[in-house]
Amino acid sequence: EQARIGVTGLAVMGRNLARNLARHGHPVAVHNRTSARTKALVEEFGDEGTFLPAETPEQFVASLERPRRLVVMVKAGAPTDAVIEEFAPLLEPGDMIVDGGNAHFADTRRREASLRERGVHFVGTGISGGEEGALNGPSIMPGGSPESYAALGPLLEDISAKVDGTPCCTHVGPDGAGHFVKMVHNGIEYSDMQLIAESYDLLRRAAGLAPAEIAEVFRTWNTGRLESYLIEITAEVLAHTDAATGGPFVDVVLDQAEQKGTGRWTVQTALDLGVPVGGIAEAVFARSVSGHADLREASRNLPGPARTGGGAGAGFADAVEKALYASKIVAYAQGFHEIQAGSAEYGWNIDPGAMATIWRDGCIIRARFLDRIRAAYEADPHTPTLLTDAHFAEAVGDAQDAWREVVVTATRLGIPAPGFATALAYYDSLRADRLPAALTQGQRDFFGAHTYRRVDRDGSFHTLWGGDRTEVGT
Ligand code: NDP
Repeated sequence: EQARIGVTGLAVMGRNLARNLARHGHPVAVHNRTSARTKALVEEFGDEGTFLPAETPEQFVASLERPRRLVVMVKAGAPTDAVIEEFAPLLEPGDMIVDGGNAHFADTRRREASLRERGVHFVGTGISGGEEGALNGPSIMPGGSPESYAALGPLLEDISAKVDGTPCCTHVGPDGAGHFVKMVHNGIEYSDMQLIAESYDLLRRAAGLAPAEIAEVFRTWNTGRLESYLIEITAEVLAHTDAATGGPFVDVVLDQAEQKGTGRWTVQTALDLGVPVGGIAEAVFARSVSGHADLREASRNLPGPARTGGGAGAGFADAVEKALYASKIVAYAQGFHEIQAGSAEYGWNIDPGAMATIWRDGCIIRARFLDRIRAAYEADPHTPTLLTDAHFAEAVGDAQDAWREVVVTATRLGIPAPGFATALAYYDSLRADRLPAALTQGQRDFFGAHTYRRVDRDGSFHTLWGGDRTEVGT
């Protein structure tokens, strides 16, 4: 018997993906550099479906039906290149290598171009949902050629999460498009998590609620428009008691957040594309600030406001809910702007509404909210920003007074809320009739003769600042 698809790299993600495929009735070849993992998988889960274990790359490749579908689930970076180099010489034109790791989209573009020369399809694929998603249905974001999707799509759609029968998997676009979209997904995830963290901090320090009480607030929010996986797990974490101390679990965790890099890539890429993603950037920086233990220790005695609590009266939790919802809309608007800019830059022709559709379930940012985004793009596929969608504009308009009050309260009490504040500044910047960028242009012209444009005439102009200050057109 031949395998329909193969998975090499059988750590948590690869193992669970292979089991998911087998459980769906697809015979799956399995391979791992260290063959103990392969044996363990078959011993523990062999009864879940048809596994074809292989000890060597040659055996593995020989056990695959043609055209071969080979999924690589190894550590991103150099290990992925090593595995590609090992397997590519064993493949034939028309075969497919699917990289399901968290690769940088630029690496995916490079690998795709090089394998295309050999006639092999390289399919950089974003997979979200963690360990659990890989087993029970992740959100899958495949890039690569349309031909490869024709051969792979049905299999991937079969094992993906579903919403009302619609798979959380679609062809994103050529070469690096899938990994690009997965990267932005993770950037949005950073932003969403930061906004939730700020909400918790305000409810605790401004409103004086205990973690278990805040868990209840989040549980209530999870029955409304904020319903999402991240809000759900937040309530679980806040309600959890530490066995050793008997106190709230959240109080015994060291307050230094770590990161693996996809949030940073999202911001670096946004800078290159010239897309303002302040919400994602502040989320990355917030983790960074938290990790600077020495800097924080040295600054601990800096003065704060005289009043440090009790500034939040009745209705504060509702105000925070509004601030969170409005800021979340901004975070997603910024992320989708980056997707559209990347798509234009690289000629990917990504359908943003389809991305919202496949993020509705399976992935970490899965939420009821994503169906609203899908609907917004359905109503206007070319909308320049989600903020102007009728539903979102109304929601933000309704939330904005509370949102402003929450930022004021945070500022007054000295509680950092960079996510809320930057989202609000972005909203007000987009709304503004005039921005002080006019003054910035004047300064640039003054010190560097960088020229400026006028509101009333076409062309570039320069004022002779060091001379008689007459204006010259260029
Ligand atoms: P790891 O990232 O921990 O990678 C371990 C696997 O990589 C093992 O199978 C290991 O083989 C193999 N490997 C490492 N170096 C080499 C090499 N030079 N040659 C061959 N094989 C090598 O595993 P995960 O399952 O956590 O993640 C796999 C991929 O999926 C990563 O790219 C990750 O970023 C991505 N991902 C992970 C998610 C998660 O929630 N963990 C979510 C979404 C994506 P060996 O057993 O021989 O050491």
